[in-house]
Amino acid sequence: MLTAGFVSLGCAKNLVDTEIMLGILADNNIHITDDPHAADILIVNTCGFIDSAKEESISTIIQMADFKQAGKCRGVIVAGCLGQRYQQELLDELAEVSAIVGTGAWHRIMEAVQAVLAGERVLLIGETDTIYDETMRRITTTPAYSAYVKIAEGCSNCCSYCVIPLVRGKYRSRSIESVISEIQKLAERGVKEINLIAQDTTSYGRDRYDKPQLAMLLKELVKIEGIVWIRLLYCYPKYFNDELIEIIANEPKICKYIDLPLQHADDEILTAMNRRDTREEIERLLEKIRTAIPGVVIRTSFIVGFPGETDSHFELLKQFMIKQKFERVGVFTYSQEEDTPAGILEQQIPDNVKDERYHELMALQCQISEELNRDMEGKVLAVLIEGYNPEQPDVAFGRSYREAPDVDGRIYVENAGSLSPGEMVQAQIVQGFTYDLLAERK
Ligand code: SF4
Repeated sequence: MLTAGFVSLGCAKNLVDTEIMLGILADNNIHITDDPHAADILIVNTCGFIDSAKEESISTIIQMADFKQAGKCRGVIVAGCLGQRYQQELLDELAEVSAIVGTGAWHRIMEAVQAVLAGERVLLIGETDTIYDETMRRITTTPAYSAYVKIAEGCSNCCSYCVIPLVRGKYRSRSIESVISEIQKLAERGVKEINLIAQDTTSYGRDRYDKPQLAMLLKELVKIEGIVWIRLLYCYPKYFNDELIEIIANEPKICKYIDLPLQHADDEILTAMNRRDTREEIERLLEKIRTAIPGVVIRTSFIVGFPGETDSHFELLKQFMIKQKFERVGVFTYSQEEDTPAGILEQQIPDNVKDERYHELMALQCQISEELNRDMEGKVLAVLIEGYNPEQPDVAFGRSYREAPDVDGRIYVENAGSLSPGEMVQAQIVQGFTYDLLAERK
């Protein structure tokens, strides 16, 4: 039997593509292995969003190619954003690569496999208008109790620094029926937590139903038996409307957790980024969310060192963070990308300034996060158990509605007893640290 190994890089959206390709391979009787030594074919699903992601993708491809000597690998297939972005250039530059499968051609992964077996090199780039649906087999790689569900693909926002619209195509939503049907099947398999994702989750439905339909989708999803948490990730602020706030506030199954990437707070920089909201509009939205949804956790991300960002723009961003006290913040340094409007702007910021600003914001967020976590002491939360600390078998770790998978801290639960991953327990927070919390089982 033919054996394939898969490395999935980048975000959860890319992971869903990986899981669909794993389903296609399994349907074609290809065995999947975690051991690259044992694989006949190695597939790297790449990220090509910013410089650091491209570097990671290329070094992973080269590492996998070493298994042509160190293992029994007959060829390396590059899937995902990097291949879509650089196409023939990447195939020419990396002799180690046997096939490239673009973001619009994942459904042709078997053609790439056949090419490797035939000793050929192929470039498979389709139109970026494909999206999976509920009829496709998907082999989830996340823990059995949790899954990501991609409700839309592509993006039409055209932020000036971002290559996503180029490599993933225009925004296109799946149908409400398709998403419901997929989540019903996941629930039947024991999934309790659904993390809804897209490049811009809030715009869900605008292309297909002429108006945002995320609230409508959520109204249907909360009816699905077995699903305990529905979490919204990657929400663009513009279409975060009152209907959405209301349903998050009132539906117990929807996590009071909103991932709302804002990118900056200064109006000049927001305009140069081609973002659609002003600081005033963002502040109004944040106030509305916090008033309507007590206990809400807001995650956001900021880019520092965007071209033309002065000390005073940066200072304004810092003051905004101090005022807003976001529970979770991710900070990125601006990456100058070709084929983007921001990439050709003058006043690019030197790397050392970007790095200083990055460290300054991260240090600021550490203080805010620790303060907010201390405020959690004494509170009781439902914790989804994910595992145990091998050195302290009586201490389990997990997440509450306040922590998204993969990106947020953990809650360590003392006196856990014998709990299995996927079980939920009540736990009282006894100590808050910078990112993690310590709790006792109730
Ligand atoms: S919303 Fe902006 S940053 Fe996000 S994927 Fe779309 S274009 Fe890129």
